Amino acid sequence: LTIPHFDSFRKKLERSFKEIKSDVNNEYSWGEIATYIPPLAKADPNWFSTSFCSTDGQLCKFGDQEKFFSIQSIGKVVTYAFLHNMIGDEVHKWVGEEPSGVAFNAPIFDKLGRPHNPMVNAGAIMVCSLIIYQNKSLEDIIDFFQRASDTPRAKIDSQLYLEEKLTGYNNHALASLMLANKAFPQQTNAEETKRFSDSALDLYFMNCSLMVNVEQLARFGAMLANNGINPTTGERILSPKTVQAVVTLMTTCGMYNGAGKFTKDLGVPSKSGVSGGLLTVIPGIGAFCTWSPPLNEEGNPVRGIAMIYKLNSIYSNFNLFHK
Ligand code: GLU
Repeated sequence: LTIPHFDSFRKKLERSFKEIKSDVNNEYSWGEIATYIPPLAKADPNWFSTSFCSTDGQLCKFGDQEKFFSIQSIGKVVTYAFLHNMIGDEVHKWVGEEPSGVAFNAPIFDKLGRPHNPMVNAGAIMVCSLIIYQNKSLEDIIDFFQRASDTPRAKIDSQLYLEEKLTGYNNHALASLMLANKAFPQQTNAEETKRFSDSALDLYFMNCSLMVNVEQLARFGAMLANNGINPTTGERILSPKTVQAVVTLMTTCGMYNGAGKFTKDLGVPSKSGVSGGLLTVIPGIGAFCTWSPPLNEEGNPVRGIAMIYKLNSIYSNFNLFHK
């Protein structure tokens, strides 16, 4: 088994979780909740859950682990993995693979007019457009996520989706700029191209609004940690090449503008999202997902990061660069 003494491992996780949860010195209980739409602004800052799944499917979970939250930017990992597995590095004709160095939603593109990478909004919208180009839909992404995580089908929160769509001016602007850059795969005429970009944006908003819990994401991450094979069903979900692409881009671009320091200090491929989720993959070992809504200045979840610092201080081999 990957974790030979799972019970003692579980207890260590639980202790770290409780230390963070019962923090009285305001060390881990600061941060701001995302308020750009009402469904997110209503979050309780005390919600906190975590789950770990090993590459053998050994699982544990604590706190508000049954509560669902919107996947938001962690969904960028799901869509990129899904697409890359179909078309490989062809993706990168349309989306770059370098950190952008600017905000995740900045209206800035690389020298070729492409989004910088699949983990920023413009990149994820482009990934959605390429998914549509492959004649795939939200249902196919949900199917993929279900096979990858071996958990019940994720559903979208339609109220949240509508609010994202209604107020996502910035994302609408990104799609328009990509139209102006002729960044989308060429369609035959302007009308068709516009329709295509609208559907890409729509898929992006729906994908952000998928409701998940920490267990589902930990299981999804464990499949990545297990080189693309679902630990519980044994099914190959992703090619090793795709796993490498996904995990590497999580390492370099997964934590908004905090990715550099996070990777320097912790060395664990991770992706955060605005609703407070944090997915961390430890190749060959397993994956964690933590969820707690308060975010730091970079938009990364405060308690989720604290959890990884604590675990890395116990298990230094979690750090990819500390062997
Ligand atoms: N729905 C959010 C947006 O597109 C997701 C951002 C995020 O999680 O970083 O702005």
